[in-house]
Amino acid sequence: MTGKKEKASEKREKRLQEISLLRTIPYSDHQRWWSEETIAVVTGANRGIGFEIAKQLAGHGLTVILTSRDTSVGIEAAKVLQEGGFNVDVHQLDILHEESISEFTKWIKEKYDGVDILVNNAGVNYNLVSGNSMEYAKQMIETNYFGTKNMIKAMIPLMRPSAAGARIVNVSSRLGKLNGRRSRIEDEALREKLSNLETLSEDLIDNMVSTFLQQVEADTWQSGGWPQKFTDYAVSKLAVNLYSMLMAKQLSERPEGEKIYINCYCPGWVRTAMTSWSGNVSAEHAADTGVWLALLPNEAVTGKLFAERRELKV
Ligand code: NDP
Repeated sequence: MTGKKEKASEKREKRLQEISLLRTIPYSDHQRWWSEETIAVVTGANRGIGFEIAKQLAGHGLTVILTSRDTSVGIEAAKVLQEGGFNVDVHQLDILHEESISEFTKWIKEKYDGVDILVNNAGVNYNLVSGNSMEYAKQMIETNYFGTKNMIKAMIPLMRPSAAGARIVNVSSRLGKLNGRRSRIEDEALREKLSNLETLSEDLIDNMVSTFLQQVEADTWQSGGWPQKFTDYAVSKLAVNLYSMLMAKQLSERPEGEKIYINCYCPGWVRTAMTSWSGNVSAEHAADTGVWLALLPNEAVTGKLFAERRELKV
């Protein structure tokens, strides 16, 4: 291991220990704005990081709606938590399909009359540990960006007014940083427009991903100035990070008592199916920052990207 890598690994280990310690500190009564009446929806919660987020939120006493695109797999996963005494309900949800989103929306409105927390965790990455094939670029953008965006649009009207504010947490990635040192869009003018809240718009983000997909289709993406590592995944998560920043600005205009806070976080490189279990952190640890963001007591944090409970610059 080189000196630099060694230092980075030591730093990560130290932070992991700090977080483990922070997790042992219970929330005090005045910090706990939630109860078992608080409804948290987690997408892709049948396994991996999503399952852990569902488990930890339920462990804090909320009612968790565990969603899964495969009904029977979701029921089995929910059973594990229900048998542990947690308040967990389960419903089918495939974020790629509009009918599935609208059926879920209808169900949750009828059964719970609203939502307080939405955790957008469902996602895909077809290039596992190495490789940069664009074979599944369209499906990746559709799931990670459009699926997440469609869930946000569907859930916002259901989010219940409260003094603490409703919360949206997107499980994203630091690979989707606009100004990442090693992985970023080369077009400076586009970066500038995307990083400025005055010029950032949904059309601009949608145009960015559709230009990328057109270049993938024409096989010209290699010279398009896109992030070089896990390119399609990085573009999809960049779009999520930017859309969250945009939504945070719009949602902050809502009146007091009806606020919705939206943030993203990078769980690190996690030992789940997505990485063929080759990551360096457990799903349990990876869930921590998402749960912490979902439960932040009375702090109006919005439009940010976090990792290990610390803010990163998009
Ligand atoms: P997993 O592959 O273990 O889990 C992904 C989950 O997303 C599964 O439950 C999967 O369902 C679900 N999913 C995929 N597509 C859809 C869909 N169309 N509708 C509903 N659910 C869907 O991966 P992780 O737990 O590692 O990943 C969770 C999130 O964390 C993802 O957003 C990922 O991008 C992000 N992330 C992961 C990192 C890592 O190192 N693992 C690093 C950075 C970010 P099914 O079981 O049916 O396939």
